[in-house]
Amino acid sequence: MSEEMKTEEELIDVSTEDTEDQEETDKYQKICCMCHRSESKAGKMIPLMKDMMICTDCMQKSLSSLSQLDNNGYQELMELSKKFPNIQMINLSDFPTQQIPQKQKVKKKKNEPAPTFDIKSIPAPHKIKASLDEYVIGQEYAKKVISVGVYNHYKRVATGTMDDIEIEKSNMLMIGPTGSGKTYLVKTLARLLDVPLAIADATSLTEAGYIGDDIESVVSKLLAAADNDVEKAERGIIFIDEIDKLAKKKNATQRDVSGESVQQGMLKLLEGSEIEVPVGANSKNAMVPLETVNTRNILFICGGAFPGLEDIIKERLNKQASIGFQADLKDKYDDDPNILERVTNEDIRRFGMIPEFIGRLPIVFTLRGLDQQMLVKILKEPRNAILKQYQKLLALDEVQLEFNDDALEAIAARALEKKTGARALRAIIEEIMLDIMYEIPKDDNIGKVTITREYIEHTGGPQITLRGDMVIYG
Ligand code: ADP
Repeated sequence: MSEEMKTEEELIDVSTEDTEDQEETDKYQKICCMCHRSESKAGKMIPLMKDMMICTDCMQKSLSSLSQLDNNGYQELMELSKKFPNIQMINLSDFPTQQIPQKQKVKKKKNEPAPTFDIKSIPAPHKIKASLDEYVIGQEYAKKVISVGVYNHYKRVATGTMDDIEIEKSNMLMIGPTGSGKTYLVKTLARLLDVPLAIADATSLTEAGYIGDDIESVVSKLLAAADNDVEKAERGIIFIDEIDKLAKKKNATQRDVSGESVQQGMLKLLEGSEIEVPVGANSKNAMVPLETVNTRNILFICGGAFPGLEDIIKERLNKQASIGFQADLKDKYDDDPNILERVTNEDIRRFGMIPEFIGRLPIVFTLRGLDQQMLVKILKEPRNAILKQYQKLLALDEVQLEFNDDALEAIAARALEKKTGARALRAIIEEIMLDIMYEIPKDDNIGKVTITREYIEHTGGPQITLRGDMVIYG
């Protein structure tokens, strides 16, 4: 269809497309077609043609190389081009546009003043803890420490006092058995504070250049979690799980690329430094735009189960107890279930973490292993407790769901046997509820289902109440 034949409507369509295009381009940063740096790094871009930009540095370089040609040089160039008619000036529009990196997914830094945390809007520690209480059961000490740590950290970020008075960053080290709520605590915290969170597994990290993710990839993950918004990412939280797997290998003869070297590599990240991270990719390469992220205000929380740490602590305590005037029973600490709470930096060093690494995680706290009673509470008390979820599901069918107390005890006891903390609960409940969720919608007369201990122990069925209050024992 020729241009003249386009109806007015179509022309309007095209113009709205254009504005949409423009809006879309405005949302993202421009990238220099020569040096591939983004607008935030290279400064203002000069358009050469559609989707093709050049930064002022590259433009300057090109112009100055041209200007080095004196008058004679220029004349020679012209003469030369006459002698070789095949030589022609390069027309930029001949470049295939697909080869030009376009529309890179780098969100622009906003022009308005950075929305720093308003000191008044950072919830006080007791408020942070109260919100955590709604989701995380038990772990009182851990919740208290993390609330104060986070409060201090963001207060520092908001006031920027880290510049004048060198206050240490409140990076944290969380020690607790598997399934005790380490990840859950951090996730809940990040959600409550509305800050981006990246969760990385220390076991996948290796020293740069080796197979595995390099250490800086954790910052890249955070940037992705912050929708590529650098300022938002710079106030985020990075949680590195299984940190104990980075312990120095005993009697290692080879270079320890996934243990001690990773600890070394993480030092500058923990302390605060400018890291160049690829946007939208795991590795740096020519076609991926890079962004600089400063980790100074990023809160690092490391977590791990540290198996065997108890023995190290016991050994130290028993040794201390058996010497001097205060000599005590030699095996006094052997049966202490909360021995982990007596951990010191020295114990962690003996476990295999290097002193510089421990030094950069000034807040160390422990989480307790969950006992049967806590597991029962986890089943029913948190805001999004798993039982509440099933109750809601059945309520949609107008069926009430109840669990007898001894049924909950039985579920918790079964979960405890699996030794994976609260993680086992979900699998058990799902198995129990499968038949209920399958059978109940079949019969419209059912008004209430009560899960009994017998049903959990496979010695009986659930108690079914029909809408007319008639009770049937399964
Ligand atoms: P880990 O300590 O190994 O990181 P997680 O935090 O991943 O354990 O816990 C697994 C799941 O168990 C969580 O998703 C959460 O639902 C539940 N959970 C664990 N501990 C608690 C707790 N103290 N309170 C409430 N739920 C918990």
